[in-house]
Amino acid sequence: MNKVNYQIVMEDIIKENVKQDKVPTLLLHSCCAPCSSYCLELLSQYFKVTVFYYNPNIYPEEEYYMRVKEQQRFIKEFPAKNPISFIEGDYDTKRFYDMARGLEKVKEGGERCLKCYEMRLRESAEIAKEKSFDYFTTTLSISPMKKSAVLNQIGEKIQNEVGVSYLFSDFKKKNGYKRSTELSNEYNMYRQYYCGCVFSKRQRDEEIAAKEKAAMEIEN
Ligand code: SF4
Repeated sequence: MNKVNYQIVMEDIIKENVKQDKVPTLLLHSCCAPCSSYCLELLSQYFKVTVFYYNPNIYPEEEYYMRVKEQQRFIKEFPAKNPISFIEGDYDTKRFYDMARGLEKVKEGGERCLKCYEMRLRESAEIAKEKSFDYFTTTLSISPMKKSAVLNQIGEKIQNEVGVSYLFSDFKKKNGYKRSTELSNEYNMYRQYYCGCVFSKRQRDEEIAAKEKAAMEIEN
């Protein structure tokens, strides 16, 4: 089966809107300011974007608030072609932990993550529907750790269930991830070292400790 290039699918949607002289509204789910940076640089040229910060997966609470603050600061400082708005979702951590029950030990990228993407995308679609946005999408595909095919399939399924158009995308294409690191440096952004939840933090901490131990053993 041929792999779909979701970046090209998005470009075709943009071209069609430009041809019709339309600047549609887009609810962009964002996981953090660094990941949103390149997505906003690109999307704000063609859409009236509202960033939707819905991430009840983030642990601990201080980390959550630090990421929200960075998101708001970037929106304020970035000279976008079309103005960017912001909505903060509920920090309903119970919803995340209920969803993750039984999947606590699954490695990053596994079943818990698929459910985590779906939870955040579904909430975004529902808000997009309620507030009559033309499209919804997410910044998540910019991460080299996240498979765009999986995210786009989830997005398409939710689009059909909720009844609001999903903007297909693969933001890591065309050096999107590289550009996001450049923008993060330019805006002196806080960049976290783990995906977001307590389980991903634990996994990353263990990997760092194992690396340090191995390095010490080589030295001795
Ligand atoms: S590792 Fe990331 S995507 Fe996976 S469950 Fe945790 S926060 Fe969600």
